[in-house]
Amino acid sequence: MVHSKLPNIGVSIFSVMSQLANEHNAINLSQGFPDFQVSGKLIDLVSKYMRDGHNQYAPMQGVMKLREVIAEKTGALYSHKVDPEKEITITSGATQALFTAISAFVNEDDEVIVFEPAYDSYVPVIKLNGGRPVYVQLKPPYYEIDWSEVQKLITARTKMIIINTPHNPTGSIFTAHDLEKLEKITNGSNILVLSDEVYEHILFDGYEHQSVARFPKLAEKSIIISSFGKTFHATGWKMGYCIAPENLTHEFRKIHQFVVYAANTPVQYAIAEFLEDEKNYKQLNAFYQEKRDTFVNLMKGSKFKVRPSQGTYFQLLDYSGITDEKDTDFAERLTKEIGVASIPVSVFYHEKIDHKVLRFCFAKSNETLEAAAEKLHKL
Ligand code: PMP
Ligand code: GLN
Repeated sequence: MVHSKLPNIGVSIFSVMSQLANEHNAINLSQGFPDFQVSGKLIDLVSKYMRDGHNQYAPMQGVMKLREVIAEKTGALYSHKVDPEKEITITSGATQALFTAISAFVNEDDEVIVFEPAYDSYVPVIKLNGGRPVYVQLKPPYYEIDWSEVQKLITARTKMIIINTPHNPTGSIFTAHDLEKLEKITNGSNILVLSDEVYEHILFDGYEHQSVARFPKLAEKSIIISSFGKTFHATGWKMGYCIAPENLTHEFRKIHQFVVYAANTPVQYAIAEFLEDEKNYKQLNAFYQEKRDTFVNLMKGSKFKVRPSQGTYFQLLDYSGITDEKDTDFAERLTKEIGVASIPVSVFYHEKIDHKVLRFCFAKSNETLEAAAEKLHKL
């Protein structure tokens, strides 16, 4: 008999729904990944660096040139000065960075505040490390945080607060007011903030990304995680990074070196060069806003109700006007019978709260979105 370390954790919903979509030949708007090509220029750069012989281990912390460009970008966008030598680590995707950060700081019986619905890679790692998740629910339809509720949950055991803006799965974003509240709550404490900012370049309607990096007192206690997978349409490359003050980075790297040691070398060199041209990430807001608008317009006249999406490449649709089936059952039926796969949002709650909403990924060609909408209109 194997003694499971995670007895209540099943297979990730992203694997489950993508597999179901494939089995039933459904349009896959479930797992979040774009169906657009990576820029030809970026691909050429990877191939150039491979041919030039950059094929052995990168430095454990990451290629210096890439860390320097990230430091410049963080300074320019968020007015936060970061030392590339001591405060940035390149990781094999944000998932690895999140695992590493939680493992580095969460000890037995530590409490970690998690907002629900929560992206699925936080809680299992908290539990693996003997920590205890403390849940706070975001308030629909805008999925906002009641900070007075958070304040009440802070105890002497609170080690970390995990935030995610723009937010997966809801598409909500933090305002400056949210970060001011967070700063106030954590001020003078030893609480760390783990800030998942993988969608930092995907915000709509003129909103600006509120990185914890913009708030000096918060930045002192924050571990920022981002991912090039989202920014460069390259989720399969598994390339991300972590920005944290020197004392936190020191501990982060102790774990990082034994999880992966170093991330992919030629891709790091290529991204370093590509990232120098800010156009390569600054055009993303407009690009995805158009996708969101296309999908929302296509859904007009259907029985689905559109929830607000201010960032990420996800759109929540409320189906309470169609059926009162459980969201997991409805998502399965939608895949098998209608031919469109989505993600049921209840899976992101520890108590499987079902608000009758499904998450759809609109990072797809217009033809794919049109074909999906046509099917969804049949309901
Ligand atoms: N955090 C969030 C909120 C995400 O949506 C994702 C991926 N979709 C990740 C982390 C993981 O990113 P990566 O693919 O770089 O591991
Ligand atoms: N983050 C992506 C999503 O939310 C999926 C990542 C994964 O498959 N683990 O859909």
